[in-house]
Amino acid sequence: MTTPLPNQLFINNQWVSPANAERLENINPADESVIGEVICAGEDEVNAAVAGARRAFVGEWGKTTPWDRGRVLHKISQLVSEQIDTLADIEMRETGKPIDAARGSVISTARYFEFYAGVADKIQGTSIPLGEGYLDFTLREPLGVTAHILPWNVPLNMLARGVAPALAAGCTAVVKPAEQTPHGALRLAEIFLQAGLPAGVINIINGLGEKVGAALAAHPGIDGLTFTGSVATGRTVMRACAEHIKPVVLELGGKSPILVFDDASADVAATEAAKGIYSNTGQYCDAGSRLLINRRIHDAVVDKLITKSNAIKVGMPTDNPDMGPLISAEQHDRVMGYISRGSNDGASLLCGGVRPSDLDKGYFVRPTVFSQVSADAAIAQEEIFGPVLSVISFDDEEEALAIANGTEFGLAAGVFTRDIDRALRLAQRLDAGTVYVNEYFIGEMASPFGGVKKSGIGRERGLETLANYTRVKNVVIRVQG
Ligand code: NAD
Repeated sequence: MTTPLPNQLFINNQWVSPANAERLENINPADESVIGEVICAGEDEVNAAVAGARRAFVGEWGKTTPWDRGRVLHKISQLVSEQIDTLADIEMRETGKPIDAARGSVISTARYFEFYAGVADKIQGTSIPLGEGYLDFTLREPLGVTAHILPWNVPLNMLARGVAPALAAGCTAVVKPAEQTPHGALRLAEIFLQAGLPAGVINIINGLGEKVGAALAAHPGIDGLTFTGSVATGRTVMRACAEHIKPVVLELGGKSPILVFDDASADVAATEAAKGIYSNTGQYCDAGSRLLINRRIHDAVVDKLITKSNAIKVGMPTDNPDMGPLISAEQHDRVMGYISRGSNDGASLLCGGVRPSDLDKGYFVRPTVFSQVSADAAIAQEEIFGPVLSVISFDDEEEALAIANGTEFGLAAGVFTRDIDRALRLAQRLDAGTVYVNEYFIGEMASPFGGVKKSGIGRERGLETLANYTRVKNVVIRVQG
């Protein structure tokens, strides 16, 4: 089955294709074929999308009851689940994900809409005791028109993570997908129409980040912005938002450590470390890209890890391998550059570091492990965003903690130990927005997610994200006697 790829812009529930629009080619990373064309928004379309979102906010969506908002979100969730085959096919072709992983991304997209459907009519204020003669309460109001600038790594999922809670809170949205993954979002727009979402509630405008993303971030008609992407772009977006004093949520990169102590199961640690770095071809912001192992258990864990790494099947997404390609030629060059750098800096390449011998097209690279990596080497400090793991050994907990906290990032961390006190001590002391203990990548839509240090500002998922899409108004009343 090959799903047709929608490519027009989606503004005010209309499909828009400006005559003079800039067009970009969209490449399938698994075979380098052109799968579609991206139609880019110009200034007029950015303005139309923001104006449409404003009209919907003060108009029909603003007048929709919270429970009816919840019903629309629930309908979207159902339709996403029903249309999993077409959505997963698009996500697979745009990102190169193995088909089961693409289906997983669609399932979690449906789950985001389901979760926030249930939240829509439970967003409440508080009352504050001021003593006799006064009433003080808070209103939790929707923020307004929200902008969402998305990355390419899990495109549908990232859209739902921001847009579902924004809509639940009563906001409207203008979405700018990544250049590499414009079509899945537009296929979702067909579902928004089927679900009966009023015009202007969600608008999707594609195009280059430097143009369309930048125009959206700088737009005075936006009340708040959620950005997921690299630190460098996050900084640019934050500066643009500063101009109009707009709140910004930044979900940025990571260099997440996994700490393995000598009382842990070497097999469990190796299995989870492989999952932590090879899932989505290492292109998760919270990939466990540094493996810190106590010297006493180092060789046992590394031996198992290498066996598992060499057994990883890398191949065409349609064959449902363990690992697909990287997203683009640019990303492939970047990853290969870091692999050369790792060897040049004196680390020991234990496996991978090359393209699979049976694949001469596509942006593939074999699972790669470096050991004897110095904690301050580039491959231990910088986000590679590929299946490249840096193994660093340590002698005791203090040393492990210092290495773990010794980067500019703080997104996630993993701890493998049977010692509950050590796990809890480290959970408190690690610089991270999420700490996984004895299993990596655990949690759900209900679990807040985000970073500290240069990994970002704000929390998404769970109920925490409602702070991003609501504003608190305090009403204080003198009750006349
Ligand atoms: P990127 O920063 O290059 O692009 C992200 C988005 O920003 C794209 O939509 C792009 O078009 C847009 N953009 C680019 N320049 C812009 C500008 N000047 N103004 C406004 N928008 C602009 O990042 P990427 O390469 O697409 O994604 C990879 C990065 O995203 C990695 O660093 C990864 O860690 C991070 N990421 C973080 C999370 C998280 O939740 N923390 C999730 C996924 C990805």
